[in-house]
Amino acid sequence: MKKRKIFALLLCMLCVMNLTSCGKKSENTIVVGTNAEFPPFEYIDNNGDIAGFDVALMKAVGEEMGYKVKFSNMEFKSLLGAISTGGIDAAIAGMTITEDRLKSVDFSDPYFSANQCIILQSGNEEIKTLEDLNGKKISVQEGTTGDIMATPDEENEIITDKSTVVKRFKKGTDAVLELKNGGVDAVIIDSSPAQKFVAANGDTLKLIEIDPETAEPEDYGIAVAKGNEEMVLMLNEGLAKIKENGVYDELIEQYFGDAEIVTKETSDNWFVQQYYTFKYVFIETEGYRMLLDGLLVTLKISLLSVLFGVALGMLLALMKLTETRKKHKTFWSVLAGIYIDIVRGTPVVVQLLIMYMVVFKSQAPMVAAVVTFGMNSGAYVAEIIRAGILAVDNGQMEGGRSLGLTYGQTMRYIIIPQAVKNILPALCNEFIALIKETSIVGYVAIQDLTKASDFLISRTYETFMPLIVLAVIYYIIVKGLSKLFSAFERRLRKSDIR
Ligand code: GLN
Repeated sequence: MKKRKIFALLLCMLCVMNLTSCGKKSENTIVVGTNAEFPPFEYIDNNGDIAGFDVALMKAVGEEMGYKVKFSNMEFKSLLGAISTGGIDAAIAGMTITEDRLKSVDFSDPYFSANQCIILQSGNEEIKTLEDLNGKKISVQEGTTGDIMATPDEENEIITDKSTVVKRFKKGTDAVLELKNGGVDAVIIDSSPAQKFVAANGDTLKLIEIDPETAEPEDYGIAVAKGNEEMVLMLNEGLAKIKENGVYDELIEQYFGDAEIVTKETSDNWFVQQYYTFKYVFIETEGYRMLLDGLLVTLKISLLSVLFGVALGMLLALMKLTETRKKHKTFWSVLAGIYIDIVRGTPVVVQLLIMYMVVFKSQAPMVAAVVTFGMNSGAYVAEIIRAGILAVDNGQMEGGRSLGLTYGQTMRYIIIPQAVKNILPALCNEFIALIKETSIVGYVAIQDLTKASDFLISRTYETFMPLIVLAVIYYIIVKGLSKLFSAFERRLRKSDIR
């Protein structure tokens, strides 16, 4: 009966979450992948939503095609793979149409023309052309055409010096931060984001256009699965229509016109400077909203995972305990043993990636995360509960049984209530660990607290303040939780005296 209830509960939980999850395909919705780290083409706006020229363009094209468009934010280099596996229907990410990419995907007609640029520290007078980067340190966004341009290999005719160091980052902003911090000499990146990055960094950085004779301009296209001619036709039709009816030009004006840039006040006093930075990161650029949204996501994932974990842990513990009861290994105890062994023996980030990419096929990241953390935590909770139950004096079971209770009833009314008291501190530790562990969900494109602070770094190029505030928030949650648990434990202990 009990097991059935637990299963029913888990099932309900999954259903509810499925409804609220994102990335689900339906009849006239297409899921479009992007990498929201490439302003003004795609970025996260103040509301924590994916926005930008590409996003607006894709929505407009979708409208023409009679489709609703849903965006899925992922790493740039994962986009083509996600198209091939069917996780997304198309990708728009300022993606250059290249011969190499055409081997694995098809593209719409070009919708934008761009070139690569070099970003340098303002004082750098030594580097003037792409050739000058030979033997230097260059940072790029991984898997982009900038990456190809910087990497000295057989096909590269300009950067030929093998001692050239290429540092690859998941985001263009991280590549720029590396330059700001002096870790590299230059960044190679597409012109429009380069202009945004330089503008956002005051006088510290400058931009050099690469001579078109050295590197040809690039065309951006919308990528779709190889052979999906129907989709290519629809996209091209949609693109042609929005060019005709003026929507395209409006979008160009909106996203490439002169945007107002909020600048930060500066001071020579370190403390005053930190105060200004705090104001700039969280209030003037409305970073607090992103952080609050992220906090809610972290709490939601943690809470649901804990519930799932405890239910599963209890089940696994009971399965393992059949061994103690029968005094020999049973099918259930072996099964639970194998499960616990595997879960404890592999990193949770790997479990999360398998769950999201393989089991959930890059859909419903929230559900994938809750299932992963619930399953992971379940293994640890099982051992905690089992130890707690075994620590209850054997006489208690004998007492219960001699009163005429069944094994199950004795467990439920006598043993487990006592065990709970013993395991509370260990369970509390497990929950705390779980909350902190959820900070890896950014891997599967969930905007939790950690990811929110990451976005703030990308937007403001400030590292210290977003990270310190992030640490403080986690600390407060954990502290609050331990206080709650201690209070609960004290209440339970009170009944001991009576
Ligand atoms: N246009 C470049 C490319 O296709 C960079 C795109 C991006 O970083 N989003 O590789």
